[in-house]
Amino acid sequence: MVEYTPPYAEYEFLFNEVFDVYDSISGIDHEEFDADFVRMIMEGWGEYCTEVLLPLNEIGDREGLTFKAGEVTMPTGFVDAWKEGVEAGWYAAICKPEHGGMGLPHVFRNAMDEFAISTNMALSVVPALGLGVYDLVTGHGTNELIDHYSANLATGLWCGTMCLTEPHAGTDLGIIRTKAIPQDDGTYRVTGTKIFITAGEHDLSDNIVHMVIAKTPDAPEGTRGISLFLVPKFLPKEWESGGLEGLSQELADARNGISCSGIEHKMGIHASPTCVMNFDDSVGWLIGELNNGMPLMFEMMNRERLATGMMGLGLGEIAYQNSLAWARDRRQGRDLAGVRDPAAAADNILVHPDVRRMLLTAKVNNEGCRALGVWVGMLLDQMHSEDEKVQERAKALIALLTPIVKAHFTDLGCETTSTCMQVMGGAGYCSEFGVEQFYRDVRISKIWEGTNGIQALDLAGRKITQNLGRNLRFLMWPLVEFIEENRDIPEMAEFNKPLHQGVRGLQQLTLLMVSQGMGNPHFLAAGATDYCRYFGNIMLAYMWAKMARVCIQRPDSEFHQAKLASARVFFKRIYPETVALAATIQSGHKHLMEYPEAMM
Ligand SMILES: Cc1cc2nc3c(=O)[nH]c(=O)nc-3n(C[C@H](O)[C@H](O)[C@H](O)COP(=O)(O)OP(=O)(O)OC[C@H]3O[C@@H](n4cnc5c(N)ncnc54)[C@H](O)[C@@H]3O)c2cc1C
Repeated sequence: MVEYTPPYAEYEFLFNEVFDVYDSISGIDHEEFDADFVRMIMEGWGEYCTEVLLPLNEIGDREGLTFKAGEVTMPTGFVDAWKEGVEAGWYAAICKPEHGGMGLPHVFRNAMDEFAISTNMALSVVPALGLGVYDLVTGHGTNELIDHYSANLATGLWCGTMCLTEPHAGTDLGIIRTKAIPQDDGTYRVTGTKIFITAGEHDLSDNIVHMVIAKTPDAPEGTRGISLFLVPKFLPKEWESGGLEGLSQELADARNGISCSGIEHKMGIHASPTCVMNFDDSVGWLIGELNNGMPLMFEMMNRERLATGMMGLGLGEIAYQNSLAWARDRRQGRDLAGVRDPAAAADNILVHPDVRRMLLTAKVNNEGCRALGVWVGMLLDQMHSEDEKVQERAKALIALLTPIVKAHFTDLGCETTSTCMQVMGGAGYCSEFGVEQFYRDVRISKIWEGTNGIQALDLAGRKITQNLGRNLRFLMWPLVEFIEENRDIPEMAEFNKPLHQGVRGLQQLTLLMVSQGMGNPHFLAAGATDYCRYFGNIMLAYMWAKMARVCIQRPDSEFHQAKLASARVFFKRIYPETVALAATIQSGHKHLMEYPEAMM
């Protein structure tokens, strides 16, 4: 039986002690969200996740989806659980009050995402997509589209999708073939096949609003010729009375020309419909400007990339909680330093250093990612600050941190779920104990929303040099300031010194990547994944040093002393991998690119 306790205390520590979360959001018109109110919201959501979503997680995995005559039926209980969330207003929480939401700041929403992912990753993706579509419609749609779609998308009455991938075009979206033909009434007719579309078809909601990338005739080659269209499963009723521009009377309230011709059978997330979607002369509306679809799609994708990063954490956390609970009961062998429990036939496995290594690596990586997730949530809120300087800094940092969060959190999530299975021995491999499902479910997070290899290239090839290196400077300033502030505090030396060395190493590696990469792009590309991991380690080191700074002042508290112990595990046992990563990056591309292809 899988167990889960939402990590409330962890978030309170981060919100109240490590970051000035409430101060930070008070400048962005969010004064009503004080600590008491936020605790109430988080606990209400935590209850919904543990009592409604968690019991369905294993059912969804075992039962899977039913596909019949173009329709997808969700596993038992999913529709009721979804409706309960919609009626309670949970899915709208982050949306604007005028669309039925409560304007919840991102920093809290990020935390709440973690609980939903832990308890039911397959279903948690649905609101994330709906919110992405909501943001695009409210940010770039015409007033009529906003009026018609925003409130229903916000509440979850209607769901959303992102339709990018085609059979021959995955990473390389510049070669998509889906066409959009302009009509005299201002609409477009969209025709093409999209594959791997998450939640493309299902019975959770009355309507599904697809965001489809396509090319108009004579559009420029490559990604510069891509436009973005809103293509709904059902066309709006309101248009019968001529309420919305651009749709002729006879189309109103009809089913649009969209069909689902199949769903994929996958390693994990069995309750998430991954659909082949056919658009056949479907009515669609342009979102934003013609040929400006990719930057808009990236707005949604970047938000989804951060949400995907949280998947690594969410599944890493529930895997940790369950493997720890199992380990506490399991007795095998004896403590090498002397029998601990002579009355029993064997000692508890927590006496073995290797078991502790596995559990503490999982715990410490989860907690480091959670801290960075909170900082990223604050930055997402600051992107809407009225203070232009705050806004500029937040945008630069989000640009830089998005590929790191996506790739590093999901790499760690995959490692953590695997390690937690290992803690449990044979039981970890058996479905009865649940952890093998988390391992299968988390694996997709390294692939979708742009593979982790592509995230690494985005970081090394674009984000560090973008805006003449300004993204990186916005990170280096607070980092260097933090190191300076803590230089003369003796209790901080064990954290501050390695952080300082790592940051110096990051600066040198960045220079190397940029200088060598200019002359030889293979050099940069060969080192990108290791560079991204190195960077991820630096970010977690910064988070652990920040947490340690708070905890050294609380010698009386068990919670804070345990955090210090965690910081030591991070710096002594995890962070040293940066040395090996630096050596790999420096070795360049030669050994990869000169290897005879025929012998591979
Ligand atoms: C379960 C699931 C759900 C999905 N949901 C959606 C969805 O909702 N909407 C949607 O549009 N798509 C969705 N996808 C598609 C997903 O985003 C793609 O699978 C992913 O972006 C990778 O594309 P691909 O599978 O075509 O791999 P490919 O592009 O063929 O890549 C194969 C390998 O080559 C590498 N590679 C490719 N190009 C380069 C390059 N230029 N430089 C270096 N390495 C490169 C990749 O990193 C990868 O390792 C989903 C996929 C799955 C499996």
